[in-house]
Amino acid sequence: SLSDRLTATFKNLRGKGRLSEADVDATIREIRRALLDADVALPVVRAFTGRIRDRALSEEVSGALNPGQQVVKVVNDELVGILGGETRRLNYAKRPPTVIMLAGLQGAGKTTLAGKLAYWLKSEGHRPMLVAADLQRPNAVNQLEIVGERAGAFVYAPEPGNGVGDPVQVATDSLEVAKSKLHDVVIVDTAGRLGIDEELMAQAADIRTAVNPDEVLFVIDAMIGQDAVKTAQAFLEGVDFTGVVLSKLDGDSRGGAALSVAEVTGKPIMFASTGESMKEFEQFHPDRMADRILDMGDILTLIEQAEKNFDEKETAKLQKKVEAGEDFDLNDFLTQMSGLKKMGSMKKMLGMMPGMSQYKDQLENFDEREVDRVEAIVRSMTPAERTNPKILNGSRRARIAKGAGTTVTAVNQLMERFTQAQKMMRGMTRGGGMPGMGGGGG
Ligand code: GDP
Ligand code: MG
Repeated sequence: SLSDRLTATFKNLRGKGRLSEADVDATIREIRRALLDADVALPVVRAFTGRIRDRALSEEVSGALNPGQQVVKVVNDELVGILGGETRRLNYAKRPPTVIMLAGLQGAGKTTLAGKLAYWLKSEGHRPMLVAADLQRPNAVNQLEIVGERAGAFVYAPEPGNGVGDPVQVATDSLEVAKSKLHDVVIVDTAGRLGIDEELMAQAADIRTAVNPDEVLFVIDAMIGQDAVKTAQAFLEGVDFTGVVLSKLDGDSRGGAALSVAEVTGKPIMFASTGESMKEFEQFHPDRMADRILDMGDILTLIEQAEKNFDEKETAKLQKKVEAGEDFDLNDFLTQMSGLKKMGSMKKMLGMMPGMSQYKDQLENFDEREVDRVEAIVRSMTPAERTNPKILNGSRRARIAKGAGTTVTAVNQLMERFTQAQKMMRGMTRGGGMPGMGGGGG
């Protein structure tokens, strides 16, 4: 992993008044390789590492960090900065309805997102309405109607039998409909093509002009890889947009497209779509994405000092769940894993956690890299598999193993251990504290 390689690199670095070029370049070589592995577009990798280099070279060496760690800190700060710093919230119209227009290639996930957005907006107390302005594909209106039904949102579509409608007209009319039906948010789904084409861009631009949206969200498939830059640029010039939604983040992709799009367009990434069901949708978290792209959690936490990082809230939540008699699932397992990882040193953790001493022996043998391996496996699972591990049949396990770059045997071992941990959790309802992760090299 990048963390391992960086740790090795750091051993050869020495602290001076200022970071030397050799120190910085050694670290940046590893970062560059990791970015390319994550499918960040090449020009973006160049621009990004160039900036990191300049910044790292101009910084004073801090007493607390070794030079390599310091470069990593710069990398992480910069990465989170580009990905948006804080999550940007939706911009609502002063006078309703708020109009949100979706744009992107065919298959990017616009129609699915329209439903998720409506579902989420409802939970936030809004009355969203969906507008079928994709009249390109015969089935598109129907698909949006199904999505609307699942989200429990009204769908405005042209009357059937009137021939092929005019999407600009449909979008325009929808605003009056929204006002009369008291919908405060209008989500306009638009057509996409497999490749970038001018007719598509012109149509989207016309819709934009007609409805004057408060937000234009550019939806992009996280798996698009190197094409992210070209596609994002074309939509920026052709339609322009105010925010980005990254879809299909539940896949194997490390999410390099996020960095490519953010760097090239300078637009905030606002939401992430993580599956086909309505609920698999979240506000985008730049720090989590930075972690996913560079996979340097270990190093970062060394830097941040483990002791303040233990998340008491998560423990309390888990404790509550167990006390309520609910099974703890793989999401909890993952949270625990990240918690352990944040601790940096397992022994430090012992001293900090009540009830932990009973697992002391297991922890003494704990292989820290095992946390990474386990985490890779759980992260290769879909959200459904994590909440309901019972569905993990042979073919799912094979897919997960492939995604995590490991063997089915390793997945099976993990599942066995998870089942044990689950049992342990059940047994701990009265005891308090956390279970060990099973220890040993795995
Ligand atoms: P559109 O052409 O941009 O409207 O894309 P669709 O919404 O029709 O999505 C294309 C395909 O991707 C469909 O099969 C969706 O179910 C699927 N899809 C959309 N979003 C996600 C996601 O976040 N995760 C996964 N796994 N599939 C998705
Ligand atoms: Mg669609």
